[in-house]
Amino acid sequence: MFAAMRSERMEALHLYSDPATGLEAVVAIHNTKLGPALGGCRYLAYNSLDDALADAMRLARGMSYKAALAGLEQGGGKAVILRQPHVADRAALFEAFGRCIESLRGGYITAVDSGTSSADMDCIAQHTAHVTSTTHAGDPSPHTALGVLAGMRSAVNARLGQSSLAGVRVVLQGLGNVGYALAELLQAEGAELLVADLDQGKVRLAAEELGAQPLAPEAVYETPCDLFAPCGLGGAISQRSAALLRCAVIAGAANNQLVEPELAEQLAARDILYTPDYVINAGGLLHVALTHRGVDAGEIAGRVKGIGERLDSIFAQSRAEGRSPAEVADRQAEEILYA
Ligand code: NAD
Repeated sequence: MFAAMRSERMEALHLYSDPATGLEAVVAIHNTKLGPALGGCRYLAYNSLDDALADAMRLARGMSYKAALAGLEQGGGKAVILRQPHVADRAALFEAFGRCIESLRGGYITAVDSGTSSADMDCIAQHTAHVTSTTHAGDPSPHTALGVLAGMRSAVNARLGQSSLAGVRVVLQGLGNVGYALAELLQAEGAELLVADLDQGKVRLAAEELGAQPLAPEAVYETPCDLFAPCGLGGAISQRSAALLRCAVIAGAANNQLVEPELAEQLAARDILYTPDYVINAGGLLHVALTHRGVDAGEIAGRVKGIGERLDSIFAQSRAEGRSPAEVADRQAEEILYA
């Protein structure tokens, strides 16, 4: 385990067990150079503790990079609660986890992630102040969508030389909390919208409310467009889908869009501008982190818009140095974290 920690440059791993509630949890703290670690809490079934530890470490590292490039005085961390087949009292389990977080005295701040809800965060909040995205703090998704919109403008300007999204043909994959809000923003900007979701009800709604053109989920990659926006689950860009894509720009909200990092080079070789996912989707993190610090809504909105300027600098450096935007983003983050 120490070798794995060294290779991820992980600062600390904490393991918790509370037999009274069945809680078994991991908190991974990757880097606290910029401030206390912040990152979501997953509540999922894992095949083994090793799998849970690996997931927590990988995600915590990603949060350090995301916070660094979002300009936050925040480190990267992640929590994983191992989901058991039967839980007698979910509220008691999350309350117990709240006591674990409190024992870290602010070194780690938790938030909603896969498998957890604002109601779970409310249970945690009964025992610690180091928790965000409670029902009181609100849903970060609209802020993520606004950040993605700013990032799309930057990418379209860099690749197509166009400062507005009006008339840009967008294929949007996934009409969830972020994707639907983004579709509304794109429609208001005059983009041409083609949408797909596994849930046909969401697709029908977007067609009726926004005049979007429905696409079958399997058609998104080969449909010609200016911009492909992955807003579903991670892993949208694989060797197979990358070969099918007929777009100029990829810019979307989903985390971990590239199945393997080498795909960034392959996309660049095909003249497809890939927008690094953790940079463009940082609007939700900015909202969560800054709300927790008591920053006012106007300033938060300005910081979310700033995602566009960060991407302008990444695209300019990428052009100047002949490296992919994904590599440039990683290097910029590493300079902040390790200089
Ligand atoms: P969500 O669960 O509300 O929505 C995801 C949507 O994608 C669902 O409607 C689902 O049916 C659809 N989908 C899944 N696979 C699909 C496929 N193959 N084809 C078409 N549609 C598919 O999630 P969300 O909160 O909107 O988040 C979307 C993505 O953005 C996730 O990857 C998430 O990790 C990432 N993200 C979200 C936030 C946020 O603030 N919510 C912040 C940063 C990153």
